[in-house]
Amino acid sequence: MRLYNSLTRKREEFKPIKKGEAGIYACGPTVYDFLQIGNWRTYVLGDLLVRSLKYLGFETKYVMNITDVGHLVSDGDEGEDKLEKGAKREGETAWDVAEKYTKDFKQGMHKMGLLKPDVLAKATGHIKEQIDLVEKLEKKGFAYKTSDGVYFNTTEFEKQGNKYGELSTLDEIKEGARVEINKEKKDKRDFALWKFSPEGEKRDMEWESPWGVGFPGWHIECSAMSMKYLGEQFDLHVGGEDLRSTHHPNEIAQSEGATGKKPFVKYWIHGAFLLVDGGRMGKSLGNAYTLQDLDNKGFSPFDLKYFYLIGHYRKQLNFTWEALEGAKTALERLRKRMADLQGETLKVDGVWEEKFRERLEDDLDMPGALALVWEMVKDKDLSDGEKLGLIEKWDEVLGLGLSKVEMKLEIPEEVVKLVEKRSRLREEGKWNGADSIREEIEKLGYVVEDKGGRTLVRKR
Ligand code: AMP
Ligand code: ZN
Repeated sequence: MRLYNSLTRKREEFKPIKKGEAGIYACGPTVYDFLQIGNWRTYVLGDLLVRSLKYLGFETKYVMNITDVGHLVSDGDEGEDKLEKGAKREGETAWDVAEKYTKDFKQGMHKMGLLKPDVLAKATGHIKEQIDLVEKLEKKGFAYKTSDGVYFNTTEFEKQGNKYGELSTLDEIKEGARVEINKEKKDKRDFALWKFSPEGEKRDMEWESPWGVGFPGWHIECSAMSMKYLGEQFDLHVGGEDLRSTHHPNEIAQSEGATGKKPFVKYWIHGAFLLVDGGRMGKSLGNAYTLQDLDNKGFSPFDLKYFYLIGHYRKQLNFTWEALEGAKTALERLRKRMADLQGETLKVDGVWEEKFRERLEDDLDMPGALALVWEMVKDKDLSDGEKLGLIEKWDEVLGLGLSKVEMKLEIPEEVVKLVEKRSRLREEGKWNGADSIREEIEKLGYVVEDKGGRTLVRKR
C-alpha cells in the first residue's frame, strides 16, 4: 500500500514496524461544542484508513484521544480555554460540558457508521501519564519553569542534536498571532507542557503536579496517550492538515525528546480541509454545520459520507447544499440498484476484487473506489450474486450500509431511516428496541425480513 507521508513529503510503500500489524493514532475532538462537518471529514478519513488496512489484511490497533481538558483557543499558550469557554456559554461546569459533547461525539460516530476505536482515551483520565512525561523531559533538560507554567525548551532540544519542526509546513513555528508574546519564554517557539491555575482562582479542571496546581498544555496528552497504547514508536498518525503546522511537530518533539531520538511515528497522514461555499467554515460565519443541521434539512450521515468519498483526502473538498443533494441522489440510486439484484450472494470475483484493492493501495483513492462500485454494478458480465458478493466485501471499507439493507424500490425516507436504526440496534444486540422499530415500520405499511445476513424491505 502506498501512502503520502507528510514527514518525508512523498508517497511511500507502507511498511509497518511489525509485519502484518498497524498501529494508528488519530487526534480526537476537543469536546466543548458539537462537531462540524469539517471535523467529521477528518474522522471519516481515519475510519477509511483503518478499514482499508484491515481489508488489505493488516491487524490494526486504532487509538483516539478525547481532548476533554481545555486547550486554548489560539495556537499559543495564552487566551481562553476552550472547555471553560463552553462552560461559560452553557452555565455549566467544564466537566459537564466535556461529558455532554463526548457523548454527542460517540453518538455521531455511531450515526456515521464509523468503527469504534480500540482505545478512546480521555485526556482527563491520563493526567498521571502526562505529568510523568513532563518529568522525563525535565530530567533531560528539555523543560523549564516560568511564572505561569512549565515550557518545552526547543533550543536545548536542537542543541542535543534533534530536529524541531521538520514536519511543519511553516517556515518557522510561531506563537499564535493574536496572543501577547510571553516574555518569560526562552524562545518564541517554546510551548507549554503544564500551565498553572491563575493565582487566587479555582478552575473547574485542575490537578496537583510537582510544579504546582494546574492543567496540562495542549500537545502533551497526545504524546502521553499514543505512546501508552501504541508504544514509543508506532506506524500511523492521522489528523487534519491544520495540525501539521504546530501540534504534530510539538508531539514529535515531546515524544522523541523523552524517548531519546527514537523516531516517534513512521507515517504522518494529513487530511485536507473541508470548505463551505468555497471558503473557510466557522462558527462566526454561520456555516459550521453539524449533523443535526443536516438532519433538519433531510440529509442522513450516510449522504454526507458519500459526499466525502467523492473527493480525495489530500484535496480540499467544497461543501455546498447542492453537492450534498447530488451525493444523496447518487446514494439512493446505488441503493436501488442493489435492491434490484436477485438471488444468493456469491463468492467474490477475483479480478474485480483486485481492482478494488489497487484503489485502496493507491494512497486511499476513494473516488476511484466509488467509481469502481458503479462500474461493477453496471457490468453486464457479472451475475447478480457476484455483484452482491462484491458489494458486501467492499462495503467493509466504504461503510455506506450497502450490503446490509436491501430496500425494494420506492421506500419512503421515513422507513429507510427506521430500517437503518433497527439494523444498528440489532448489531448492538438491542433486540427489544429493534423489535419495536419493526412494529413501527409495519404500521407504516412495510415489512422487514432478515435473510442470510441481509435485511430486505418491501411494501406489505
Ligand atoms: P479540534 O476539535 O478543533 O481539535 O478538531 C478536530 C479535528 O478536526 C482535527 O483533526 C482538525 O484538524 C479537524 N478539522 C477542523 N476543521 C476542519 C475542516 N474544516 N476540515 C477538515 N478537518 C477539520
Ligand atoms: Zn494530537
